[in-house]
Amino acid sequence: MIKNDIENKTGIITKVSGPLIVAKGMKDVKMYDVVRVSEKKLIGEVIELRGDLASIQVYEETAGIGPGEPVYFTNEPLSVELAPGLIEGIFDGIQRPLRVIYESSGDRIPLGIDVPKLNREKLWHFDPKAKINSTVIGGDILGTVQESSVVVHKVMVPPDIKGTLSWVMDGEATIIDTIAKIIDQAGNEHQICMLQKWPVRKRRPYTKKLAPTEPMVTGQRVIDTLFPIAIGGIAAIPGPFGSGKTVVQHQLAKWADADIIVYVGCGERGNEMTDVLMEFPELKDPKTGKALMKRTVLIANTSNMPVAAREASIYTGITIAEYYRDMGFRVAVMADSTSRWAEALREMSSRLEEMPGEEGYPAYLSSRIAEFYERAGLVKCLGSDGRFGAITAIGAVSPPGGDTSEPVSQATLRIVKVFWGLSATLAYRRHFPAIDWLKSYSLYSDAMDEFFDAHVKKDWSKLVLETKDILQDEAKLDEIVRLVGVDSLEFQDRLTLECARSIREDYLHQIAFHDVDTYTSLNKQYGMLKAILTWYHKGQKALKNDVAFAKIAKMKILEKIGRMKYIKEADFNEDCIVIMNHLDDEYQALTEGGETNA
Ligand code: ADP
Repeated sequence: MIKNDIENKTGIITKVSGPLIVAKGMKDVKMYDVVRVSEKKLIGEVIELRGDLASIQVYEETAGIGPGEPVYFTNEPLSVELAPGLIEGIFDGIQRPLRVIYESSGDRIPLGIDVPKLNREKLWHFDPKAKINSTVIGGDILGTVQESSVVVHKVMVPPDIKGTLSWVMDGEATIIDTIAKIIDQAGNEHQICMLQKWPVRKRRPYTKKLAPTEPMVTGQRVIDTLFPIAIGGIAAIPGPFGSGKTVVQHQLAKWADADIIVYVGCGERGNEMTDVLMEFPELKDPKTGKALMKRTVLIANTSNMPVAAREASIYTGITIAEYYRDMGFRVAVMADSTSRWAEALREMSSRLEEMPGEEGYPAYLSSRIAEFYERAGLVKCLGSDGRFGAITAIGAVSPPGGDTSEPVSQATLRIVKVFWGLSATLAYRRHFPAIDWLKSYSLYSDAMDEFFDAHVKKDWSKLVLETKDILQDEAKLDEIVRLVGVDSLEFQDRLTLECARSIREDYLHQIAFHDVDTYTSLNKQYGMLKAILTWYHKGQKALKNDVAFAKIAKMKILEKIGRMKYIKEADFNEDCIVIMNHLDDEYQALTEGGETNA
């Protein structure tokens, strides 16, 4: 396939510098065109043009290649192939199918290998949806294909085509067989197959972008309650090593309210990537009981690929995500880690001898990071049915030494709306998820709280605000305790500390590996938080009525509140009523009991 794309025209290599090659005689190529380098036909992409000279980023090992060798033109931009067969696929940064290559050649990818990105022989059952003789526009759904046991793939009219549907097939077809014919206004017939190509560096079109309004519920209490993310939102997780970054991402992949997961792994060390390749396919989808891969596309850079491929992988991933968004799906893209991607950018920039910016990163680092995240969002898709689709983007950042003042973290923070700061200290204390409640934020909080008030309980936002205040108060009170000891505090403040402890230990702490605790519905989150804060409010009142602090702090109900996270969803409402009644009864007994602080 790719071989046939190669044209007779060639340029000549003048310089080789690692993954960067300079060639002359390149007037006829365009920026971002793919070229094949030397007789080995290595895959490269034009990333700079100056007159007759082109700088080419090569996605394969360039050792042994030297000046004087040819560069073949393809006259096509670096593109992804979009068709059934993406789901359950494991690809590298330029969409080479790793499993297929592994089966044919073992774990080292042969240089210049020509394997189609998607299987062209497999037959899919195409089920037509569009009517013959109807007018169709870009984005309209021609038919569907059962891509995996959980994903129904929509085959769409390519964005730039409009006309009358003159024929549509019903039955088995490969992705390169014609499945529909469209006659445009000028009378030209377009033969449509399921396979579409799209240049990775260009965003796919939509009708309109909308402000996100609904939360992407994750079942992770610290996220949904304190720092919610919207469907179509963007978030960053900075994660020092061992802080639980991978567990958080797996939890999100499993539980978040998304139809499709695109996971882009740019690991640095070989074993990081092997982990993803081994672990991800093992994950079970709690919603379907089947493998999570049945609704996942995995993009992984293997350790023997040059840095350039890492640079491309993030674009390959987001383009695939856009394609599923266009079908009307809610897609979650996870990029792990964008720091590794930025390092690839830095290396290429230095080889291009560009003027370095902060810490050697190119001056365009921020704009490139912004370009990636801006491809996320909630949109009205192309097509006449007015469907909506969304991409929620979550990028892990791994700043060296955990210091978020470095350029990649800073550029990311300027763009993202949610920041889940993982803390090495919390992880060390085994508080998981180690999301630091004092440093993290969500700029969607206001909009999401409005949603929660309307759809969960009307005092949701009030509870959340109070919870945040108590945690802030705890930080301040801790300072005082460190200086003068806990006994110097007023009982009201000591009660606040007890409440904060309960919020941290009984609520925010959530074990990913516990059958019940791994996911908490919004209804259960509300019930748990309400119980903790009701205990606190009643405690404040009891203190005013001279009930002894020690008695409030040792109430039996606290143990029950602490175990609420382990109550099964099905039993929760009933058990919650019992707990709230016990709470009332125990306070009643305390107030009548008569022992005071005096
Ligand atoms: P990182 O990817 O940041 O290096 P991991 O995600 O591998 O860190 O987490 C390190 C360890 O922390 C895990 O093996 C696990 O034991 C523990 N851990 C992390 N998150 C949780 C969680 N939510 N619940 C229970 N244990 C967790």
